[in-house]
Amino acid sequence: MCHCMQKDKFKKFLRQLKDMGFDAIPRVEKSPRESRPPAPINSPQEFASKGKLLEELREKYASCRNCPLSASRTKIVFGEGNPSARLMFIGEGPGFDEDHTGRPFVGRAGQLLTKILVKGMKLKRSDVYITNIVKCHPMKDPTNPEKRGNDRPPNFFEVSKCIPILYEQIKIIRPEVICALGGPAAKILLATEAGISSLRGKVFERKIIPSEPDFIVKIVPTFHPAYLLRNPPAKVPAWKDYQEIMKILGLKRSD
Ligand code: SF4
Repeated sequence: MCHCMQKDKFKKFLRQLKDMGFDAIPRVEKSPRESRPPAPINSPQEFASKGKLLEELREKYASCRNCPLSASRTKIVFGEGNPSARLMFIGEGPGFDEDHTGRPFVGRAGQLLTKILVKGMKLKRSDVYITNIVKCHPMKDPTNPEKRGNDRPPNFFEVSKCIPILYEQIKIIRPEVICALGGPAAKILLATEAGISSLRGKVFERKIIPSEPDFIVKIVPTFHPAYLLRNPPAKVPAWKDYQEIMKILGLKRSD
């Protein structure tokens, strides 16, 4: 690739960073661990190179037809956020709003997640990385993508076809903590049949990437924000999970 093309690609990448909410490539965080946000811990060069790798991955799967979900999707929802995030949120799959915008967690449940992040954890969405196990909207009725409430969890075949993309994302980002949002995501990430009520409230350490047995990440399962909207009392135990994440990352508690 010639120098000019590389320069154009880098400029495009910087524009994309700005669109994601970054004013500039953040510097290495030097403040004490107790108050450090889950912002990049890498050098600016590593931050940029991780962002580039994620962008290449996005481009690689931009027209993915590896499973039947491609037939009904409106947009692929690859994921967004900080390429060097210390904290990743992973849900089961996109819903209606995500399918129509191409962005993860932007519907009512996503707005609640953002509120928890901003008001509770004192973070920005751009401090963390948010994605799903599958990148296309699993629908009960795939003939009707314009119908709301048409969501279902992804099936085994869809997960098996899509999860390599998630492994690649994790390999690039290398988070310290993954928050599994909801039962299906927690079950898949922890390879268990146990329900979310028995999984939440615990911190699991897992070798999550098959090709990298030395890479260990902490997984904190919690209720899906959509469940919290339907069952507001569940916000109390869920907040305990978020506080546990803050403790692991050395963030100040907001209460
Ligand atoms: S869900 Fe994943 S594997 Fe299936 S078409 Fe979408 S991107 Fe490809």
